[in-house]
Amino acid sequence: MVGSDGHEQARLHLKRRLKEIGCRPYVGKSLELPYKFKSKAFCNLAGCLPGADPSLAPILIGAHYDSVIPFPCADDNAAAVAIALQAGQLLAEQGGLERDVVIALFDAEEPPYFLGDGMGSHRFYEDHVLGKREIHAAIIMDLVGHDISIPGHVLSHVPYLGKAAGLVPGLAQKDITIPTLGQLLFVMGSESHEDMAMALDSIGQPAGLKIIPTLNRYIGDMSDHGVFRRNGVPYFFLSCGQWAHYHAPTDTPDRLNYHKMSHITHYVTELANSISSLEMAGRRQKERTHDTLKLEMTYLRQSLGMLYQPVIKWLKLNGVNNRKEMDAFVHQLLRAGLC
Ligand SMILES: [Zn+2]
Repeated sequence: MVGSDGHEQARLHLKRRLKEIGCRPYVGKSLELPYKFKSKAFCNLAGCLPGADPSLAPILIGAHYDSVIPFPCADDNAAAVAIALQAGQLLAEQGGLERDVVIALFDAEEPPYFLGDGMGSHRFYEDHVLGKREIHAAIIMDLVGHDISIPGHVLSHVPYLGKAAGLVPGLAQKDITIPTLGQLLFVMGSESHEDMAMALDSIGQPAGLKIIPTLNRYIGDMSDHGVFRRNGVPYFFLSCGQWAHYHAPTDTPDRLNYHKMSHITHYVTELANSISSLEMAGRRQKERTHDTLKLEMTYLRQSLGMLYQPVIKWLKLNGVNNRKEMDAFVHQLLRAGLC
């Protein structure tokens, strides 16, 4: 938590790791970018892995490193921080990209700073990006260490699945992990630029993951990508959504899926490689610039596989063939607590 001994230790560790993977300071002489808010001290960390052409706008890979309670908070957000660092290391090992890669580890994402003026990513953008050096695109992660599971009370109402899992409708049930769903990863932000949609689609479904591209407006600015979106920076926001251990003392390292994290690490490097070569031309704007419905529909079908029809049926929908039906689909899923 901000201001604690644990926070200080985390900051020192991350600074050392950024150095180890070959990062240079993003601005000035230090990897630490301290700031003050309401007379309290905070510190973002940002390192730069040099690309072939330093005149090009950099790609940013970012995650927050503070925690909401004095417990491990492994999924929120140590897993994402580890992935950002490891993706940086892999990109450095491949000899870097055409562009610089900035690994940004933000402070103060959690309440009471969430979406306020003291939020680390806000301060990073305002103090070190705005009017200084444009960011080509940002890849932000939050809650990326866990399997997506179905709450037991929901699963018990899906006839053949509930039965197969031995669930009884109406009884309190534990959450069930289904292999297909465990691999799901939500990716918001394809709508932020046509090139971002193209970058995502050029990779397709990566090994070990099932990607569900969806609109940021369905869930809102839930993490550090918000400040980039609002300033017209093309972005991806990767998340597995909330789960039973969200903001709880039980969010511990033993509950993470390290295989999934490894797949996400490789996916992030693929995204960075793909984005790096794209021009990202055109005017930058906050709202979506083009419709990604076809992309969303295709990946949704692919990712749910044989669960697609039962889920559609369970949600009492006829299908997902237009924006109105997609809105209804996501709305129903959110109501059911599935994402
Ligand atoms: Zn959180």
